[in-house]
Amino acid sequence: MSENKNVAFIGLGIMGLPMAKNLVKAGFQVTGYNRSPEKAQDLASAGGTAAASVAEAVANADVVITMVPDSPDVEAVVGGADGVFANAKKGALWIDNSTIRPDVAVVLADDARAAGLRPLDGPVSGGEAGAIDGVLSIMVGGEKADFDDAETVLNAIGKTIVHVGPSGSGQTVKAANQLIVASNIQALSEAVVFLEAYGVDTQAALAVLGGGLAGSKVLDQKGQKILDRNFDPGFRLALHHKDMGIVTSAAREAGVVLPLGALVAQLVASTVATGDGSLDHSGLFRGVERLSGSSDNK
Ligand code: NAP
Repeated sequence: MSENKNVAFIGLGIMGLPMAKNLVKAGFQVTGYNRSPEKAQDLASAGGTAAASVAEAVANADVVITMVPDSPDVEAVVGGADGVFANAKKGALWIDNSTIRPDVAVVLADDARAAGLRPLDGPVSGGEAGAIDGVLSIMVGGEKADFDDAETVLNAIGKTIVHVGPSGSGQTVKAANQLIVASNIQALSEAVVFLEAYGVDTQAALAVLGGGLAGSKVLDQKGQKILDRNFDPGFRLALHHKDMGIVTSAAREAGVVLPLGALVAQLVASTVATGDGSLDHSGLFRGVERLSGSSDNK
């Protein structure tokens, strides 16, 4: 196994910055690049190095990690004369932790191999809290030998790290993850609107629901946010809208029918269309309130 000491980290947003900081804490030499440069300075203050371009960030990297919002953003940072593929060392691992379309991940993995890199698609789950605490779930697609070689790096940012198959598989599993999470938040939101309509002590209700079969990580992490009407992101509804687009279109491609997924995709789309896209995905609750006419957010 190679040493993988130098890590380049591209995209230091809500998730990327704490992930990069955890790599610093674990002893890696981390060089970060962010489109708006001040976030790279945050990494430098934590013991990393700020790079002024993607090319500069990846030049000496054994491992390159990308963590940007969507498929076109990943294409933008890996392609072109300044991109990862043209500038990373031959043999470097490229781990894309972004959530993107599985078909795009497959094409980019082929392009990466043609450029002499070893690609892994490794989208994550666990939210900002999981990124800060270094306990993300990471679903990884790619060659098993490359996955094994990435283990020490992935261990610094995640806790449940599973190789799920060839390139693109990580993104397919992540699409399923996003279907489950959005459906859970929608159900939790409907439960809270229902409980409030009956004047139930919602704090007590969520405590007991959390101990039974209705309990979930969504309830643990999002229940209090909903009760407090605190929708600071976290994971933005605009990103979950992107992900519901990924899962519904991938399902259509595969010829399978996801009725609940299609409905929840529309409900997420509605929150974005009504101006809530920059809120946390627990803000799905506001859409449920609007449907019942029970809020001041109409
Ligand atoms: P974010 O806070 O919006 O951060 C995205 C970062 O990517 C920003 O630093 C942004 O730079 C940079 N960026 C955006 N477009 C770019 C482009 N075209 N070229 C170069 N850099 C670009 O997003 P995030 O919440 O960290 O999410 C990142 C990825 O993780 C997404 O795919 C998301 O679906 C996934 N994810 C998020 C969560 C969560 O809870 N937030 C959980 C699991 C997975 P600027 O600073 O210049 O805008």
